[in-house]
Amino acid sequence: MNKKRVIVIGSGLGGISAAISLAQEGYAVAIHEKNAQIGGKLNVLKAQGYSFDLGPSILTLPHLFGRLFERSGRKLEDYIPIRTLRPHWRNFFEDGTVVDLYPEPEKMAEQARKVGEDPVNVERFLKYSADLYELVNDGYFEQGLDTSDDFAKFYGLWKFTKFDLFRTMHGGVKRFLKTRYLQDVFDYFIKYVGSSAYHSPAFMNCLPNIQFRYDLWYVDGGLYNIAIGLGKLMTELGVEVHLNSEVAEVRKQGERVTGIVTKDGAFHAADILVSNMEVIPAYEKLLREDTQFLRTLEKYEPACSGLVLELGLDCQYPQLAHHNFFFSEHQREHFHTVFRKRQLPPDPTIYLVAASRTDPTVAPPGCDCLKILPHIPFIDDKNPLTREDYLAFKERVVEKLERMGLKDLRQHVVFEHCWTPLDIQQQYYSNKGSIYGVVSDRFKNLAFKAPKQSTKYANLFFVGGSVNPGGGMPMVVLCGQNVAKKVVAWDHP
Ligand SMILES: Cc1cc2nc3c(=O)[nH]c(=O)nc-3n(C[C@H](O)[C@H](O)[C@H](O)COP(=O)(O)OP(=O)(O)OC[C@H]3O[C@@H](n4cnc5c(N)ncnc54)[C@H](O)[C@@H]3O)c2cc1C
Repeated sequence: MNKKRVIVIGSGLGGISAAISLAQEGYAVAIHEKNAQIGGKLNVLKAQGYSFDLGPSILTLPHLFGRLFERSGRKLEDYIPIRTLRPHWRNFFEDGTVVDLYPEPEKMAEQARKVGEDPVNVERFLKYSADLYELVNDGYFEQGLDTSDDFAKFYGLWKFTKFDLFRTMHGGVKRFLKTRYLQDVFDYFIKYVGSSAYHSPAFMNCLPNIQFRYDLWYVDGGLYNIAIGLGKLMTELGVEVHLNSEVAEVRKQGERVTGIVTKDGAFHAADILVSNMEVIPAYEKLLREDTQFLRTLEKYEPACSGLVLELGLDCQYPQLAHHNFFFSEHQREHFHTVFRKRQLPPDPTIYLVAASRTDPTVAPPGCDCLKILPHIPFIDDKNPLTREDYLAFKERVVEKLERMGLKDLRQHVVFEHCWTPLDIQQQYYSNKGSIYGVVSDRFKNLAFKAPKQSTKYANLFFVGGSVNPGGGMPMVVLCGQNVAKKVVAWDHP
């Protein structure tokens, strides 16, 4: 019997996960990727002896990646070399306070005491986080729930009340944690989905549990080794991968899609399409839907974008851990400026990765390689910023780092690379340069993303950060597995 043919548009982690899962279900799968390599935002830059993760640098929930290997009788660790990190994060404040995050309760209690927080508050907060995670994971994550009907059926009214629906994420943090230091730190777990702790719903407080219960992981040699390991598995499963193969159009007939047209003009027929291109750009650019339909998608506003700055240094800053956060003096203002005013923040919270702290292969001996990532607004078409605006902001970021202890940073830079939201959009065709897909906002969408199956074309599915459960590596990998289940259920009712 001929296998049914599935085409996946894009080879981000969501696309790869869907391709592997569908190949495991017996479909003939081909991926068309516009770029010269697989991985999408999981990307790497190597130059002058430095190696930078251009995209993700924190791996969480590796067991979700492990399932892709286990379903083919293989083991993740034979393909991807992972290890845990200590501390998880180092947090720097303008007044000189430094506090680390550890998953071990005793060590975390010591850090809490250091900033005047009662360790019991942290324990209680983490219990609250664990309860929320259990709730969200059981249905929304694992069952791949998409619609309000799905939710009502799975959770029922009683469980729904447990989502802490009347608070924001910050409101949930503030209930338990009393010091500004730990409030700022736990609010910033929202970074995993590029949203605002002051505007996302309280159940986003499930995020710390992911790190505290399942640990925080690094991939030796850099995170791009995840793409290499998954690429090997795809080859072994016979998934066809077409690189430099941009999809320019999706052909449709009535309520079905029939295939894709690549930029070279060739038509490729398919029984089922899975788009790893985000929902809004795909409907707009590939399916050319009218404005009336596109307006129904406006609630799926993009998550934030970022300034992605890589610096190769001729020295090391020993005070840095592998993962570091330099907090805004006024974090509430930071969130409001980025997510409501949509302006570049005067005093941003900055994420800084110094992978050279624990991985000697990513920088020359005695040198640090830094990836610096402040979250900034997605591209505002009505008020667009220029590359020069972003570069002026970059100077502000570096000045803040120098002020907060990285003395003479600029004098030690021997290699520099910088991507603005304009580059991110161009590179991945993400909606307005978003780096995590759709924003999680209590008022706009209650943190729901678009459904995985198209509401217009029955054999068109979506995977990745713009559909449920949203952005972040583990979530899009889970999404790929759930999309495959949806395809099978639809194809074999
Ligand atoms: C700087 C940065 C830091 C991050 N940090 C972390 C982190 O530490 N931990 C974490 O878990 N997550 C992190 N993320 C988020 C994470 O990288 C993403 O959520 C995830 O990788 C997105 O996967 P995806 O499947 O949604 O698609 P993407 O990675 O966006 O892939 C989509 C793919 O589709 C291709 N494509 C689009 N349109 C077409 C077309 N028309 N034809 C052909 N191909 C097309 C694109 O080229 C791309 O390869 C970070 C992201 C960035 C950018």
